[in-house]
Amino acid sequence: RSPIVAIDGPAGAGKSTVTRAFARRLGLIYLDTGAMYRAVTWWVQHLGADPALPEAVAAALAGLDLQISAAAEGAQQVCINGHDVTEAIRSPEVTAQVSAVAAHGCVRDALTAQQQAMGSRGGLVAEGRDIGTAVFPDADLKVFLTATVAERARRRAQDLEARGFAVPSQPVLEAEIAERDHRDATRAVAPLRMADDAVELVTDGMAIEAVIQALVDLFRD
Ligand code: C5P
Repeated sequence: RSPIVAIDGPAGAGKSTVTRAFARRLGLIYLDTGAMYRAVTWWVQHLGADPALPEAVAAALAGLDLQISAAAEGAQQVCINGHDVTEAIRSPEVTAQVSAVAAHGCVRDALTAQQQAMGSRGGLVAEGRDIGTAVFPDADLKVFLTATVAERARRRAQDLEARGFAVPSQPVLEAEIAERDHRDATRAVAPLRMADDAVELVTDGMAIEAVIQALVDLFRD
């Protein structure tokens, strides 16, 4: 059967960049599951629904058609009810509320089912928080990619700058990241944690290319 690779880890660990490049090198589809949680959050905000209310989020979910397409060069396009939200879901407003939306069981059930359906159609490299623990517990390779909060805040600053958003100070970014980690790790359903059979990779001080190579080596072993 086609290989499934699960890459999990906390916010800003550099997962997207390395996972996308790794998937391309292996010739597998790249699936950014965080983008799916972000898309639902964008939709909830677009409707003016309260992200903390389960009923409001469930109602928003009912009217949602979320389409994920793997475009050329491993980029992923995200569309909601026909609107391309690929860039919009990266906004600081979405980032601030995505953990609250992702904590609802109805959201996790819907997105997990959609991710599993994509996996049943062929090999892929999926990146997220619960891929190795909940979405693809039988993945061929599971990696937990992490880095210190300081390192992740620096990467987040570079990412915001590259996308043209205002860049908060390093302490503010560190606090935001620590808060998102805490919310993701303490929610009731499929919290962020390393699968027992995952390989942990701490990427502080590692060049992107070295991380990609480490993943390729783990996959070939
Ligand atoms: O990876 P990214 O930072 O884009 O993920 C945004 C948020 O989506 C995470 O902070 C988390 O709340 C949620 N998420 C999740 N499960 C996943 C992927 C992302 O709960 N598999």
